[in-house]
Amino acid sequence: MLDNRPTLPPEIARRRTFAIIAHPDAGKTTLTEKFLLFGGAIQMAGQVRAKGEARRTRSDFIKMEQDRGISVSASAMSFDYREFRFNLVDTPGHSDFSEDTYRTLTAVDAAIMVIDGAKGVESQTRKLFEVCRLRDLPILTFCNKMDREARDTFEIIDEIQENLAIDVAPASWPIGSGREFLGCYDILNDRLELMDRADRNRVAETIEIKGLDDPKLAQHVPAGMLAQLREELEMARELLPAFDRKAFLEGHMTPIWFGSAINSFGVKELMDGIGNYGPEPQPQPTASRKVAPEETPVTGVVFKVQANMDPKHRDRVAFIRLASGHFERGMKLLHVRSKKPMAVSNPVLFLAADRELAEEAWAGDIIGIPNHGQLRIGDALTEGEDLRFTGIPSFAPELLRGVRAADPMKAKHLEKALMQFAEEGAAKVFKPMIGSGFIVGVVGALQFDVLASRIEQEYALPVRFEASQFTSARWVAGPKAEMDKFLNVNKGHIAHDHDGDVVYLTRLQWDIDRIQRDYPELKLTATKEML
Ligand code: GDP
Repeated sequence: MLDNRPTLPPEIARRRTFAIIAHPDAGKTTLTEKFLLFGGAIQMAGQVRAKGEARRTRSDFIKMEQDRGISVSASAMSFDYREFRFNLVDTPGHSDFSEDTYRTLTAVDAAIMVIDGAKGVESQTRKLFEVCRLRDLPILTFCNKMDREARDTFEIIDEIQENLAIDVAPASWPIGSGREFLGCYDILNDRLELMDRADRNRVAETIEIKGLDDPKLAQHVPAGMLAQLREELEMARELLPAFDRKAFLEGHMTPIWFGSAINSFGVKELMDGIGNYGPEPQPQPTASRKVAPEETPVTGVVFKVQANMDPKHRDRVAFIRLASGHFERGMKLLHVRSKKPMAVSNPVLFLAADRELAEEAWAGDIIGIPNHGQLRIGDALTEGEDLRFTGIPSFAPELLRGVRAADPMKAKHLEKALMQFAEEGAAKVFKPMIGSGFIVGVVGALQFDVLASRIEQEYALPVRFEASQFTSARWVAGPKAEMDKFLNVNKGHIAHDHDGDVVYLTRLQWDIDRIQRDYPELKLTATKEML
């Protein structure tokens, strides 16, 4: 809770909505699994992956993900831990899927940064961290794989401080590393935690001690290691800042826990950290005002749309972050963009890996609303107020390629598939005024592979991407007369996006400058508002 915030209703105050950011392989999946285990959402570690296997067709885990070990889709999972309700929003790991990741990070109040104790801050960690920083998101750090040979503790902390320019406050301190790793000294609670190597799903033994001079320490930690621990902790107290909740909530300081996700070690301490220190659901920005979570009317914003989660129904699920209020199933909400009422009769909460009907939800929760395409990224739902949530980024397509169905008879089919992905926000799709085929625009090259693979899997439609004569796209808007004049002479460069809006395609910046000069009343933009 930030100092200037009022006390929230208990149901809202107990919610923690966060994402995990990590470089691939640092242990995000393993940590997620342990969260679910300790949240009582699964019985046994290993189920997250196993479920993924069984549900591959839901497009959660498509074949390419398994081949390349990358995760394409984000989903939300809710579970209880102690008195808290955690909403964990999964972020896709690969750098090429950053569009989705960026949008996901607008739906959370905090992030857990997982780093590998032997590798430290890696490229993807840094990128994701920067996105969090843009929003001043509070970040908790988990230094994983301490059961393996790790780098020196001070070195790891230094690297985070210097690379990411954030203060790091140790919440725990590792005792030994690799084969010698015993456990941690819990600095925030003055406790000793010992890792159990025999049972990976068991929580570590906690030994209450009274500070570093407690004789009980010597019963559990060999003399040499104890001397080193005392020395290091003393140095840490001198050199490193102590945990300061305000600095953490403002995004200037990250507390760091050391552990081993696979051994269930340090995970509960991290969960306690999120629970105890927060943050609670935060106010959400709109064009006109900030919406506070404790406001009674229900409001929410779509931050992600996912198609084909269930191949039997060609439905889509819009993921909504509730910004305020207490939502109940069956509620009629205003779909602000279309100004039409919408009865939300079958919302889903993603409890663990299963969809369940959401009878109710509170500010901070993520709910899914199945729909046939009415709900788009950035759309607001309210109880009547005309709100436009801001902060959901739109991306300029930086790479353009033509796309064709391998079977030319399937062009209509392909159009349908492409429109669906365009509405999901997975790519920009342009239909040129002249000629056949489509042009697809993405931010990262790997997105083309993901698209090709999804179109083949979800629509049984092999496609080919090919070089396009264009390299840039600009949305064009302006008064009708000027627009008509412009369209008439530039037909070969004009396409329409999935909303029917006009896009100018070219390979020369010079062209764009010229049009700006020749048609001063037209506005050319590299991104399109999501609304
Ligand atoms: P992700 O790519 O970030 O989701 O990483 P995963 O959770 O899939 O983990 C990557 C690899 O590291 C897997 O082989 C895990 O079994 C392993 N791993 C995860 N946590 C630990 C840990 O605490 N210690 C060790 N030694 N290996 C771990």
